[in-house]
Amino acid sequence: MTTIEGGETDANPAVRRTDDWDAGRLHELAAEHDTPLYVQDLDRVRENCDRLLAAFPDADVRYAVKAHTGRATLEAVREAGLDAECASAGEVDRALAAGFDGGRLHYTAVNPPARDLDYVVDVAEREPDLTITAGAVDTLDRLAERGYDGRLCLRVNPGVGAGHHEKVRTGAAPKFGVPYDRAARVAREAAGRFDLVGIHAHAGSGIDPDQLDSHRELVSRMGELARELTDPGAPTDAPLDLEYVDVGGGFGVPYREDAEPLDLPAVAEATRDAVGDLRGLALAIEPGRYVVADAGVLLTRVNTVKPTPGETVVGVDAGMTDLLRPAMYDAYHPIRNLGGADGEPTPADREETPVTVAGPICETGDTFCTNRAITRPARGDLLAVGIAGAYGYEMANQYNSRPRPAEVALADGEATVVRRRERLADLTRVERESAEVDR
Ligand SMILES: *Cc1c(COP(=O)(O)O)cnc(C)c1O
Repeated sequence: MTTIEGGETDANPAVRRTDDWDAGRLHELAAEHDTPLYVQDLDRVRENCDRLLAAFPDADVRYAVKAHTGRATLEAVREAGLDAECASAGEVDRALAAGFDGGRLHYTAVNPPARDLDYVVDVAEREPDLTITAGAVDTLDRLAERGYDGRLCLRVNPGVGAGHHEKVRTGAAPKFGVPYDRAARVAREAAGRFDLVGIHAHAGSGIDPDQLDSHRELVSRMGELARELTDPGAPTDAPLDLEYVDVGGGFGVPYREDAEPLDLPAVAEATRDAVGDLRGLALAIEPGRYVVADAGVLLTRVNTVKPTPGETVVGVDAGMTDLLRPAMYDAYHPIRNLGGADGEPTPADREETPVTVAGPICETGDTFCTNRAITRPARGDLLAVGIAGAYGYEMANQYNSRPRPAEVALADGEATVVRRRERLADLTRVERESAEVDR
């Protein structure tokens, strides 16, 4: 096996394309478990973890679990050696269940509901190595009111953002973090009330090869702030005893077939360069999407083919309730026609034709692509919607009273149902239970 660089090898390429999945295996899974079906390959999750750790050998690598919280995924990530970055009490609960102990748990509180704070402060009593990241003085006050004086990291708004869509560009959005020019003062005050261990910023999602400049800018501002806070020669302030500078996630993946994968070693080098001398502080990163995106596909079956004057509309059994990203972010996902149910490869004599692939939801936005050339679909064909492992099942919902899809995890090629398909009865369960409570 030849190592290329940064842990990327022939056996562990920088991206797994939708075409790289074994069509026969996907047909078997669809036949056995029905569609729509998420398939998440834990071996690929491990490979992604390995490349990250190889590219950032000295950094703390924390998986932002909101990209995919399945128990098996969390366990694979834990075994690979990453920490867990959680955005809610529910995610902390899931990470604990998957075996992360406090020292590997980071909870980032964004306008945290009281219930979430109560829960996490309670966990921190049992797991004192847990770290809470907060981005508002109000949040610090609310933690102190609950008697919390443990490990704290201050989220800073660096004033620069990046991302594939404005809805996920968080770096400059005032919602996130303490404004940069007040961060030093707030950090010093926080150090008097908590065990201040780090500073944090997250620019948003979708750092792409052409967006490295804003990443560099964010990282360099964070390095500067860290040096200011820990400067032993500062005229008035005692240096703070910080452990790390966390520069967030947002590592992009190539959704388009012709897009280049992120050059991880180059990103790592740019990050080290930009952060400068940290005087012994550790660098931390928080990739979410990068860990799981290309480990997953969504399988869906064609049920309707409708020629119209402008285009051919291909109706499928998955919709925006199963994979929200196209409707919400205009996100591009590759779509591969795997052919008919017999498992035969798509006949070579079927030409490519521009199609709109649409789901069953009563919303115009419920389309996976418009006018895209794919191998001409026929009713019964199986389609693989690719790079669907991140923010796929996680964002699934029951709009239009649609049960959520099933998910299988692959490990060493073995498939295990990790989230069974919801039934119609699941749609009304909470209502029925509420009626019982009222009685
Ligand atoms: C969502 C999020 C991440 C991960 O973002 P990706 O684009 O999935 O890498 C990291 N840190 C924080 C605080 C986040 O909210």
